[in-house]
Amino acid sequence: MVLTLDQKNKIWNAVLSQIKTKITDRNVFDAFIADTKIYRIDGDVMVISTGSKLSCQFLKSNDHYLSLIKDCLKDQTETEYKLSFISKEELKDATKVVVSETKSSFFSSCSLNPKYNFDNFVVGGCNKEAVQASLLVANNPGVSFNPLFIYSKSGLGKTHLIHALGNYIRTNSPYKKVLYITTDAFIDEYVKFSRGEQQEENLKDFLKNVDVLLVDDIQFLSEKVKTSEMFFNVFNTLISNNKQIVLTSDRHPNELKGLEDRLVSRFNMGLSVNIKNPDTTTLISILKTKIESNGLDLKSFDEDGLLFLAENFSKNVRELEGALNRLLFYTINIKHVSKIDLSTIKESVRPMISIKDKSKTITENQIIETVCDFYHLTENQIKSKVRTSQIALARQISMYLCRLLVGTPFDKIGKIFSRDHSTVMSSCEKVELLLKTDSQLQGAINTLKKQLKS
Ligand code: ADP
Ligand code: MG
Repeated sequence: MVLTLDQKNKIWNAVLSQIKTKITDRNVFDAFIADTKIYRIDGDVMVISTGSKLSCQFLKSNDHYLSLIKDCLKDQTETEYKLSFISKEELKDATKVVVSETKSSFFSSCSLNPKYNFDNFVVGGCNKEAVQASLLVANNPGVSFNPLFIYSKSGLGKTHLIHALGNYIRTNSPYKKVLYITTDAFIDEYVKFSRGEQQEENLKDFLKNVDVLLVDDIQFLSEKVKTSEMFFNVFNTLISNNKQIVLTSDRHPNELKGLEDRLVSRFNMGLSVNIKNPDTTTLISILKTKIESNGLDLKSFDEDGLLFLAENFSKNVRELEGALNRLLFYTINIKHVSKIDLSTIKESVRPMISIKDKSKTITENQIIETVCDFYHLTENQIKSKVRTSQIALARQISMYLCRLLVGTPFDKIGKIFSRDHSTVMSSCEKVELLLKTDSQLQGAINTLKKQLKS
């Protein structure tokens, strides 16, 4: 909810009056609390400006007065805000505040979601690097790793992490202007101004005025030539002014198609981190976190039931969450059971698993993606002319699996890999021959098949 200055003042005056009636030491009120105001509200974080650095320090570190303020604020607003304090000295740059508040009509559909933070993001081997890099950037925005580029397949936590990073900066550096936008929203705003509904300069100024720009799903910029041009311009200005940019994407910058090379090379300037498929232990920890955040008792859930969920929804945390939601709905509303064992879990998510099985038609792209993941290669490498033994083997395996699992004709496989019909044929034959004797290859192909069919 966006409040006018007048509404903010009204709320705060009521809070101050209530504090005054509850406080025992009037001197504390006069010295540290009387001269406070609401500076900004970002989701569930309320930033309070204080009269001096000393009062800022006092309020930050004094739990008693902090909870007194929170209680009074809750009485007035029926909302449990997290409080963050900033002194007037730190707010000297008043003009910047005016600019950022008056132009907030841009990107009205986007805002940071307070429910995503670092505390409820489970860290495992699959995302350790991405979390470490995000924390480093959140603690020192604009100082290193600029831009930070987070990429992964869908449902593995990119959006959660970029929001966590933004929320962290807003709480710990409240004077920094953080803007979270989706690439779709950026394209929409751009289209509005090309229709003449707003001026390009205003939009550019607005973007160039932020301290931290978070852009989700940058792959959607592909083929949007004009929008990309403007983004390039904003990007360069922000980076050269040491403003932080964080981007997420469903693939590595080098794999982004339909984007100009100059933009891709800018994306590669900072640090790119990948989130991989989570292992079972991480998935179980995620499940446990979600169960607890729903206010439920973990003891009611059998461990082997959680293992069953983690193994059957291992590729996408969003799907795993969907399965958990279904389970909770089923057990609470339909079965009215309090103990959730393996058979209850299987019964509740059975429709989801059978839908998954039915919808499981393997495609050539999935094969290439899975083989690339397995051998730590990129799609470009596997499709290139490079003939180093590992890349060549991964390429031959991909061709073989396309033939085996999808039944793709040789010439179609040839087109995918820019090879002729006979090269594809001999690659497939080579894999078949090797499979008879090479146990390592047998293991690799079995794992790949399992991953593709799961
Ligand atoms: P992406 O943007 O990569 O498609 P999201 O960030 O939308 O994925 O994640 C999908 C869901 O999974 C979200 O509800 C998110 O909270 C949850 N999620 C993903 N990874 C984790 C994790 N490591 N810990 C906790 N929740 C996670
Ligand atoms: Mg996302």
